[in-house]
Amino acid sequence: MVKTCISCGRKGEIFIKGLCIECFKNRIGIARLRDNEITVEMCTWCGRVRIGHKWYSHKTPEDAVGDIIVRRLKPMPSEHVDRVEVSGWVLESKLDWRTRVVVELRASVGNTIIRDSKSVVVRFKPSKCPDCVTRVSGEYDTLVQVRGSRARQIVYRVLANLGGELGILDVVETREGVDLYFSHRGGASRFLSALKSEARVKISRVEHEHVGLSGGGRRRSRKTISARIDEP
Ligand SMILES: [Zn+2]
Ligand SMILES: [Zn+2]
Repeated sequence: MVKTCISCGRKGEIFIKGLCIECFKNRIGIARLRDNEITVEMCTWCGRVRIGHKWYSHKTPEDAVGDIIVRRLKPMPSEHVDRVEVSGWVLESKLDWRTRVVVELRASVGNTIIRDSKSVVVRFKPSKCPDCVTRVSGEYDTLVQVRGSRARQIVYRVLANLGGELGILDVVETREGVDLYFSHRGGASRFLSALKSEARVKISRVEHEHVGLSGGGRRRSRKTISARIDEP
């Protein structure tokens, strides 16, 4: 039986609550989303992403985006809609820490299938997964803690100038400054002398801590060096 849409006057056979499919999509919509933006942590070391309490690895960042959408978006059917599910997705912007994605949705209202899409943002927050934290804390030889109000600015300038193989395992910004984990002492001392040529630095603490035996059976120790940068 041919009916008329109460909103646009179009004639057709499939109507929901007196509205044609187009008007139903525009006026009521097939789904509600809890958020238009999903933020997940991404380990800057291994690239795994945290969804809920678990860290997942993916072949490519695109795969990660797809998995995040499937696991996290969970669209809810709007009024008069029986079921709604994610049927696909495409990147709307270049893949980055913040990526815009068009999510395709498929809804069923009785025997009628309605397709629509919504734009969402997937945001990656740089983080470290527990496995990598354990790995790095097990591997480092020297920890250099740079302190002072200009620590961040000067550390990154020094690192950019030095380049090359310093054996840096990780650079962690903390509230007090920047912590640099080195896999070998040579790298740490190269870094410290470069730091001294950039600013007045007070080396205020050197600690040795025994961490068991090396592969050759020698006693192994770790060094923590605290470098305070003088205020200008
Ligand atoms: Zn209509
Ligand atoms: Zn990791």
